[in-house]
Amino acid sequence: MKQIDFPLIEVEETAKDVIAKGGFIYQKWTCAGCGERVTGNVKNGLFIKGHHEECGHVTDLLVTGCNYVAFMPANARSVQQSTETKQ
Ligand SMILES: [Zn+2]
Repeated sequence: MKQIDFPLIEVEETAKDVIAKGGFIYQKWTCAGCGERVTGNVKNGLFIKGHHEECGHVTDLLVTGCNYVAFMPANARSVQQSTETKQ
């Protein structure tokens, strides 16, 4: 199985880079309750607990790890890039 989630501390480091370059991120994780891929709704928010609104489960992201989708400003080299590939 392909690894799509990484330790929160590593994710935070690379996310900071994106934000420093003028982009923004939304946290992503795999819900430990239902297995769905969840995208956070807080811009530039990285949390240690991931609440999945649809099933109500709270995933401990310090244990499972997480990722993010990154959006770069239009004048950057790429308009949109993601750290993960579509499944
Ligand atoms: Zn869920």
